[in-house]
Amino acid sequence: MFHILLKLFRNHITMPDVSDGQILEALKTVKDPDKGDDIVSLGMVSGVVNRNGNVGFSIEVDAARGAKLEPMRKAAEDAVIAINGVLSVTAVMTAPTATPGAAAQSSSGPAPGQNPAPRAKLLENIGAVIAVASGKGGVGKSTTSVNLALALSQLGHRTGILDADIYGPSLPLMMGITEKPDSPDGKRLSPIEKFGIKCMSIGFMVPADTPMIWRGPMVMGALEQMMGDVDWGNLDVLIVDMPPGTGDAQLTMAQRVALAGAVIVSTPQDLALLDARKGLNMFRRVDVPVLGIIENMSYFLCPHCGERSDIFTHGGARKAAAQMGVDFLGEVPLDMAIREGSDMGRPIVAADPDSDHAKTYRAIAEALWNTLGDGASRPSAPKIIME
Ligand code: ADP
Repeated sequence: MFHILLKLFRNHITMPDVSDGQILEALKTVKDPDKGDDIVSLGMVSGVVNRNGNVGFSIEVDAARGAKLEPMRKAAEDAVIAINGVLSVTAVMTAPTATPGAAAQSSSGPAPGQNPAPRAKLLENIGAVIAVASGKGGVGKSTTSVNLALALSQLGHRTGILDADIYGPSLPLMMGITEKPDSPDGKRLSPIEKFGIKCMSIGFMVPADTPMIWRGPMVMGALEQMMGDVDWGNLDVLIVDMPPGTGDAQLTMAQRVALAGAVIVSTPQDLALLDARKGLNMFRRVDVPVLGIIENMSYFLCPHCGERSDIFTHGGARKAAAQMGVDFLGEVPLDMAIREGSDMGRPIVAADPDSDHAKTYRAIAEALWNTLGDGASRPSAPKIIME
């Protein structure tokens, strides 16, 4: 405990940035006891994530060697925690699943000497998996994800929502979910159903007051389990609320899931838009279609007089969308009712489905659905028009 506090203190003063290269260098000091070589050269390390000094990664091993290699996993954690700037480390061991011999891949591509064949995609029986992303935190991405998912459900689509933010899950709070998921067969978890949609979040398993550094954040492994080991059933659409930024979770999703596309949420401020552009370009680089941009906190509607104020330079996202050649899916105002709803576990679309805000979200959901086109990724569900 003490050494972590000391590290927190030290890092607070110096705030050193830790690069993936430093992490991999440290991991090169850890050897596979059976193979003799280090775990990086052997291509066993994948999904390195570093969020503000909280580092996670997977070490891929044969299932049969799992128990025996626990000291190696621990040594890998110890090697990384020793880096100045690292606050917490979680290494998980994963066993290869679908393609025997397929390499664990780091974010920078297949490891040397490894077979680059992709592993089987996750969530294959879901009609359309849509990642909702933003370039930075606090723009209302989770609020938008939740209300969008509820709106899609109200339009008649079988809908789920996956909270992919391992470090800062917000789904339990936003959906007012306090129970833990069941596992009827002891192998797969059942998602929790609320307001008609299926929900999964790491926050269902970890108490909300557990400090993040104790949570053992492990993006790849946890994210893959929340996709592969959850009984999502047959869904038309799964909304994935991505963690902010352009890191490995985004890459994991792009590599492991046949995404129908990504939606970028942005506030109108230029800065946020610059971030949004980064998010957008990131998805484009990995060949994930960007389905459109939603402008959140677009303008302010006075709850007393009803007057509209464009407190930020309104319209920036629409312009940016046009410049970048992606659809503009709609704008959501800054409004107390939206904030209260999402912070009190009663999202506005579920709590007040006849409100103007709910209609706005449904219009965005419809615009989004229409961008999916008639391709294979789009299931044929009956469309119910809500007025
Ligand atoms: P992110 O997922 O981007 O970090 P959140 O969805 O958690 O952002 O939103 C951050 C805060 O802003 C929350 O308190 C949320 O209730 C509030 N919020 C989000 N969108 C709106 C909105 N359109 N109007 C008012 N408050 C909003």
